[in-house]
Amino acid sequence: MLLRMSTLFLRTLREDPADAEVPSHRLLVRAGYIRRAAPGGYTWLPLGRLVLDRITEVVRAEMTAIGGQEVHFPALLPAEPYQTSGRWAAYGDDIFTLADRRGAEHLLAPTHEEMAALLVRDTFSSYRDFPVTIFQVQTKFRDEARPRAGLLRGREFLMKDAYSFDLDEAGLRKAYERHREAYRRIFDRLGLTYAIVTATSGAMGGSVSEEFLADTPVGEDTYAHCATCGYAANVEAVTTPAPAVGDPAAHPPAQVHDTPDTPTIASLVALANTRRLGGRADWTAADTLKNVVVTVHRPATDSDSTPKPELLVIGVPGDREVDLRRVEAALHPATVTVHDWPADAATELVRGYIGPQILAKLGIRYLVDPRVVPCTAWLTGANEPGRHAVDVVCGRDFVPDGTIEAADVRAGDGCPACRSGALAMRRGIEVGHVFQLGRRFTDAFRIDVTGQDGRLVRPTMGCYGIGVSRLVAAVAEQHHDDRGLAWPAAVAPCDVHVIVAGKDAQRDAALDLGGRLAERGLRVLVDDRPQVSVGVKFTDAELIGIPRAVVVGRRLAEGYAELRDRVTGERADVPLADLVDRLADPA
Ligand code: ATP
Ligand code: MG
Repeated sequence: MLLRMSTLFLRTLREDPADAEVPSHRLLVRAGYIRRAAPGGYTWLPLGRLVLDRITEVVRAEMTAIGGQEVHFPALLPAEPYQTSGRWAAYGDDIFTLADRRGAEHLLAPTHEEMAALLVRDTFSSYRDFPVTIFQVQTKFRDEARPRAGLLRGREFLMKDAYSFDLDEAGLRKAYERHREAYRRIFDRLGLTYAIVTATSGAMGGSVSEEFLADTPVGEDTYAHCATCGYAANVEAVTTPAPAVGDPAAHPPAQVHDTPDTPTIASLVALANTRRLGGRADWTAADTLKNVVVTVHRPATDSDSTPKPELLVIGVPGDREVDLRRVEAALHPATVTVHDWPADAATELVRGYIGPQILAKLGIRYLVDPRVVPCTAWLTGANEPGRHAVDVVCGRDFVPDGTIEAADVRAGDGCPACRSGALAMRRGIEVGHVFQLGRRFTDAFRIDVTGQDGRLVRPTMGCYGIGVSRLVAAVAEQHHDDRGLAWPAAVAPCDVHVIVAGKDAQRDAALDLGGRLAERGLRVLVDDRPQVSVGVKFTDAELIGIPRAVVVGRRLAEGYAELRDRVTGERADVPLADLVDRLADPA
């Protein structure tokens, strides 16, 4: 392949686009890979298309290598299967819906589990047909609340989505492992550094799911990482090691104290130490039990079309904040809002002075942080204005209805996996997701096939996504400098950028070299633009970021050209006669 800059459909920009917040967006637009066409929608220019295709090919090759078979679903789909699965409602505003001329509802698919399940149902009917994995590379549509950062979060984007079908759990686990390994090969080949992060806690229905997060400070996902054992988990999935359970009788009875004007933890701790509550002057926020009132909104179900919001109290040590994202992950699919205190306050919960002692009597559900185990004693509200109680003991003075991972996760927290390391917080962008889905969709569509013994078996599914267009930006985030992009060889739009730094002789020699490199199978871009200064050509070459450049310039007469490495910046004069072999078969 030989591209000539003199005719290439490309215009590089000197200025950053006004809406660009992150380096990949800025550089991909400036270097002429993409152009914004719509909110969250980008046009691929020739160079961008080449990178996208190269990434797609790596993904496709590794999916095929694990036995995946490529299909292609429509993106425009009737609503009905998504209504049957419940996802029409669950996605809500996040999907684009539309009606056809007869008024029949449709959607632009955000992902294709329903169609994959139905296709397998319509094609296969016997245990002999399984296992099977199908995949596609296709445009997806999501009405993201906040499309941002160019290709990183679009409303229209390219995804590789794969679906595995097995007849038993062991088969599903194998399919999952195969995909996980294929994903590692894909991201390694693309030159990404990434972490494989536990996405959902086992407590949440037991489904196994991991995300591949490419490391980047501009990522929207925060994850906790333990350098000691390699544990990595989404903040939503981090579990808290619980202390040992003791004997609740080991504590003196609870005592109530006047603590006027102490609605905050800090004011309470200060007063507790001044007044030596419980005979102590070493109170810290961690000794207090903070009780946060939230409202839980459950989604409508078949049996309950308008569920009533539920009041829930969450108890966490006072040195912690309640992280609503973690609460929602724990209570999924319910959503959660901070309780809106009525102005007239005609409630038995006394704002700022809530203790768990009365919650059971009031019939209010109480969930606690895993650190609040039986026998732990707390300084907490006494359910009267201006009063608190000490030695309020879990398992004696109150019995929680369960635990919840609600407290915020912080750098330095103990690692729940090895119990010896400390967690550090890192940022990443999700480039892949592997998920043991189970029978959620085969149940929804009642899909059964004949088993070996003649009885019906219900297949179990895995689903596996890769953000192909997002990967272009994720690789760019990890491979650039202040002068431009610096693609890894596996994804670069071209292998060699030949720059004409002279007149006709140099141009002819450069095109000749480019032709010979192309004959050897290399992708070559020749900057043969007349009337463009060498300085501008160099600047553009660094912006475009092809791994190696050859400058055909002054030393052509002696038979030399200059070879430049985009990443290391190394330069060397090389005999033109050697260049083709040197670039085509790097030692
Ligand atoms: P995110 O948490 O980033 O919104 P998701 O968990 O909603 O992603 P999945 O449904 O798991 O995404 O989709 C599979 C893959 O598709 C993701 O791992 C991600 O790489 C990619 N992807 C999802 N949403 C977008 C988007 N709006 N723009 C570009 N790529 C996306
Ligand atoms: Mg995901």
